[in-house]
Amino acid sequence: MNKRINVIGAGVIGLTTALLLQQKGYDVTIVASEFPGDKNIQYSSPCAGARWKTLAPNSDLRLQRYDAVSFKFFWELAKSNAAEAGIMVVSAFDYYQEKPTEDQLNPWWRNLVPTFQFIDQAELPKDISFGYYYITMVINPSVYLPWLLKQFLNMGGECQKKTIYSISEVVNNVDIVVNCTGVRSKELFADKDLVATRGQNLLVRAPNIRQTMSMETKSSYTYIIPRSDGTVILGTTKEENKSTSQINDKTVIDILRRAIKCCPELSVKGLDGLPVLENIVGLRPTRKGGPRIQNEFHISSTGKKTLVVHNYGHGGSGFQSSWGSCQDAVQLVREGHTLIKHDRLKIRKLFSRL
Ligand SMILES: Cc1cc2nc3c(=O)[nH]c(=O)nc-3n(C[C@H](O)[C@H](O)[C@H](O)COP(=O)(O)OP(=O)(O)OC[C@H]3O[C@@H](n4cnc5c(N)ncnc54)[C@H](O)[C@@H]3O)c2cc1C
Repeated sequence: MNKRINVIGAGVIGLTTALLLQQKGYDVTIVASEFPGDKNIQYSSPCAGARWKTLAPNSDLRLQRYDAVSFKFFWELAKSNAAEAGIMVVSAFDYYQEKPTEDQLNPWWRNLVPTFQFIDQAELPKDISFGYYYITMVINPSVYLPWLLKQFLNMGGECQKKTIYSISEVVNNVDIVVNCTGVRSKELFADKDLVATRGQNLLVRAPNIRQTMSMETKSSYTYIIPRSDGTVILGTTKEENKSTSQINDKTVIDILRRAIKCCPELSVKGLDGLPVLENIVGLRPTRKGGPRIQNEFHISSTGKKTLVVHNYGHGGSGFQSSWGSCQDAVQLVREGHTLIKHDRLKIRKLFSRL
């Protein structure tokens, strides 16, 4: 039986899936237009914050499982390989301007993260109605993605740099293809439920900031994500169906102002004390109903049947849900593989009767 698989995409989802498939004994080739080190607004992973702050609602057990599995994995990784993998354990302060909903009063993840607590009213910033304190992890994509790729190559994985325009270009030598093409799945697979949500962030130097913070108001979402090298990511915007890579200067000022309001320790001199080192803009692959992790069969013009396992549409949660969601995709690969084996056996039995 053919154990070769093509994974399309080398973002956090493609790389994580490829690594998990190798653990199950598959020979994996990653085919992708961009690999770690490349930049493109449609290559979301290098543009991410990224931190673990779940967006899974209390009602969605699937997304909760993805985030919980990933939190536990990152926690172990932080204990053993924090610096090489670009993971840092930090305190988190999340502030909300609006009154809490029922879900927010009983967050599903309160027993998952260490030292969860509601912040005392007396310690909340002005105009903030409630907040959480807990321990979480921040992930530096420019360290973590090359680290994932290195693990994949060390285990004998192969890479092919190539843009595909149709799935039929990658089915010749394999029975199974895993689609991890992020926002570009919209065109490749005509997915109407997928929307690109533009996010604009900034990188500044502020070595005194060692904790992650966020502030959610009616009109904005602001965060502060420290890196181990003394730089800090400030963000963000969430602009649906906007895909320009052009930097909006007004937005830069707005993010700086919001970030300093959320965390005054960022700069005692205000905006002037916080020069921008880099502007970062990326598209989140946001999908109605959550990520698509699903099997589909592709029949080529010659009649060859190939299993296509979709694994895309992780929105603003691709890092924090990666290990859990990719485990599901690998389970689907195994189920699909069993179906293919049964199909082949049936045909062989039929031939043997001749
Ligand atoms: C500003 C911003 C902040 C974010 N912050 C966080 C955060 O704090 N926490 C978090 O968990 N997530 C965060 N995210 C979300 C996260 O970045 C995404 O969910 C994740 O990167 C999606 O990964 P992916 O592998 O599916 O897609 P991508 O990283 O986009 O990778 C897609 C891959 O497919 C390849 N590809 C696409 N089309 C083709 C083709 N036709 N042929 C060949 N190759 C192709 C690309 O080259 C690439 O290798 C953030 C995102 C943004 C933009």
